Amino acid sequence: MAKRKIAVIGVGKIAQDQHLPVIDGSADFELAATVSTRGLAHKGLPVFKTPAELYAAMPEINVVSICTPPGIRHQYVREALDAGKDVMMEKPPTTTIAELDDLIAHAKRLDRVLYQTWHSQYNAAVDRAKALLAEQGVTAARIDWRESVRKWHPGQDWVWEPGGFGVCDPGINAFSIFTKVMPYPVFVEASTLTFPANRQTPIDVAITFKSAQAHKPKLSAGFNWLEESGEIWTIRFETGTGDVVKLEGGGRTLKVNDAVVLQHGDGEYAAMYDHFADLLDRHESDVDTTPFRLMSDVFLIGARVNGPDFQW
Ligand code: NAP
Repeated sequence: MAKRKIAVIGVGKIAQDQHLPVIDGSADFELAATVSTRGLAHKGLPVFKTPAELYAAMPEINVVSICTPPGIRHQYVREALDAGKDVMMEKPPTTTIAELDDLIAHAKRLDRVLYQTWHSQYNAAVDRAKALLAEQGVTAARIDWRESVRKWHPGQDWVWEPGGFGVCDPGINAFSIFTKVMPYPVFVEASTLTFPANRQTPIDVAITFKSAQAHKPKLSAGFNWLEESGEIWTIRFETGTGDVVKLEGGGRTLKVNDAVVLQHGDGEYAAMYDHFADLLDRHESDVDTTPFRLMSDVFLIGARVNGPDFQW
């Protein structure tokens, strides 16, 4: 079967690190154009300043992947759906829950495919952990998500603006794993968000969760953006059988009682594009709203603390 022509909208860090190379190697997709406000083309392919210019000039492209920050996403996704395109979008989906609900309803109304990516969910170790926890139950869980904002978002001022979510931008990756593998729903009980005094979004977040479980599991999380020793992307579970199940490396290593059970490399984006191809074949949408709802509750219920100024 011929490859599907796809356009990438927003040629920033994640498009260059992952989307473009993965599409280049894909058996299902063929990059046909980019949309870039800075005019960044890929391998000499056509580039357009706005999505509207792309849709007018190359109507044969039916699929787009929107790789911008979340602030512009509602506008861009709606515009793409209105133009008759099937859409894949980066995480976090939008800046508000109401916008995300609107996109889901709009895609349904127009009978288009809408795919919300959560890259951290696409790890075999995460799937194995989910199966283990379904069998054994969870009596306690602790998320530690610490990384360097200077390494992962160099110079990206949008992360510090309202709607940029600060350290919850990576933290939502932890939530996407947590909500996928937990055998029961969790709710935010309390959160403390530390904001650099000169910025609009948090640099450190401490969360406790509650559940409706009679055994009152202890569940908590800590996100931090000033970790310069390397990434700590870990979720540790204590199970009903007394075992310790640990996901490390953002979901790429699974340990049980400190013994490695499964460890693999980074195939997240390739797996996402495979899944998108399946969704397109079946003409089905896939939008998991749970991680975003949980994160918005962290802000809704959060106590604010002012911390030191942040400078790049
Ligand atoms: P980025 O490099 O700052 O921005 C992405 C690109 O989007 C920009 O370079 C720009 O591309 C376009 N863009 C930005 N603001 C825009 C606006 N207001 N209107 C139109 N286009 C705009 O950000 P990123 O790190 O790639 O992150 C993009 C998304 O991917 C975020 O939602 C992030 O959470 C997610 N993500 C990032 C990473 C990471 O490692 N950084 C990892 C996984 C997921 P042009 O100049 O080409 O127009």
